[in-house]
Amino acid sequence: MSSKPTIGLEIHVELNTKSKMFCDCPNDSDEKKPNINVCPTCMGHPGTLPVINGEAIKKVIKTGLALNCKIAKESKFDRKNYFYPDLPKGYQISQYDMPLCEKGYLEVGNLSASSGQRNIRIRRIHLEEDTGRLLHLFEHEGSQSRRPEKANYSLVDFNRAGVPLMELVTEPDIKSGKEAKKFAEELQLILRYLGVSFADMEKGEMRVEVNISLSAEGGAPSAKLGTKVEIKNLNSFRVVEKAIDFEIKRQTELLEKGEKIIQETRGWHDKKEITFSQREKEEAHDYRYFPEPDLPVMRFNEPFINEIKGQLPEMPQFRKNRFVYEYGLDEKSAEFFTQNKDLGEYYEKVVSEFKNWIRETENKERFSEKEETSLNKLASNYLITDIQGLLGNNVFIEGQFKINPENFAEFIKMLYKNEISSKIAKIVLKEMFETGADPSHIIDDKGISQIGDETEIENIIKEVILKNPKAVEDYKKGKLESFQFLIGKVMAESKGRANPDKTRELLKKLLE
Ligand SMILES: [Zn+2]
Repeated sequence: MSSKPTIGLEIHVELNTKSKMFCDCPNDSDEKKPNINVCPTCMGHPGTLPVINGEAIKKVIKTGLALNCKIAKESKFDRKNYFYPDLPKGYQISQYDMPLCEKGYLEVGNLSASSGQRNIRIRRIHLEEDTGRLLHLFEHEGSQSRRPEKANYSLVDFNRAGVPLMELVTEPDIKSGKEAKKFAEELQLILRYLGVSFADMEKGEMRVEVNISLSAEGGAPSAKLGTKVEIKNLNSFRVVEKAIDFEIKRQTELLEKGEKIIQETRGWHDKKEITFSQREKEEAHDYRYFPEPDLPVMRFNEPFINEIKGQLPEMPQFRKNRFVYEYGLDEKSAEFFTQNKDLGEYYEKVVSEFKNWIRETENKERFSEKEETSLNKLASNYLITDIQGLLGNNVFIEGQFKINPENFAEFIKMLYKNEISSKIAKIVLKEMFETGADPSHIIDDKGISQIGDETEIENIIKEVILKNPKAVEDYKKGKLESFQFLIGKVMAESKGRANPDKTRELLKKLLE
């Protein structure tokens, strides 16, 4: 018996507006002191009136446009009534039947060579307000700890109450944990490119909920089709994938045994790496939605939408393709610069330095497109491997990165022209990374400039030949690796300073 998983996602994203959704309290997710960013409006005091945050509306529409959605000509807010301690008003202002955006899609690419690109349809994107945050604490003999499973009291922080929250709902088009992960990653990148949210999952700025059902093909009659199970509280992409894969396996096994799948909400246990039942769904909630009486209906005309459309930046997928055809990079490097947006922008500055240099160079006819591509590739390799190595676990932030694009381009040109060996390059780059100095100064200061003088190189080679008679003999017998060995010795003897091309040429000559 085989079963087919049907997966849909509901993703909540906190928008990075300056103020909250319906009042002018600061929207600051880094605020550590509880209940600082609150006012009578977001606390739901009687007699207060909400005012719509226009910036939040624009950010949702921007997201909708980037995700190929239809933007509503008319939209409204509704009250969703329920009681919970983190909801001060006793209702949440949300959108019920007239969301801001509908019917879009996101292309999820290159999952495997066979499946290629696939569109995951987006049912709707709407705007609502976030709730406050509950802290469940455990106090025992005077000491406090955060142990939700043993909590004996709770605190509430309303700093988050009323923060603009965008909810995106997909159609059940997703087929695997891997695909769900890819969708969420791709969405996060787009949100960051758009500048609507940083969408950090660990901080709760982006929260993914999964709806999953399995339809059995064949099998026992009791194995009914598609009971929907929800998985909540997934705080990383890795966990999204793992939880879905676990759930597919769990439900498949139940169906195979002819057992029933219960409609319920499940959570993810991080240590055990399993999903577990949180609550069974009784009847569907009746939230008694009705139009929010304190807010007007919103109408959007064509010029308004077009203005936002005009502000859309280059999207990640476009950038990736452009890096391939414009700079001649391979897919993997282009992908790296797309994922690391700031580093990608830095790379473009470096490349434009090359362009200026080629334009100004006397022998510009000498420069073929192929050579330009090798310069671009060299710069890309050094940024992706060496610079990443120097950064360690730190993220690239241009303001904090000491090497300016001119100096980095200079360094790459020296390598390209063979003025420094890769060994010297490592020393120079490390110094540049630490001090921000330009490469030629570092080379002068450290006395590590290249030896181009033939007599000087010849002397070193002669010494190496004398010291390594066995290798010389092997080479003469036709063992080519011995040549490489001797080159290595010369480079070591000169501390990496001998010009590699000249060394090769002279060694060959002296061995004859
Ligand atoms: Zn407020």
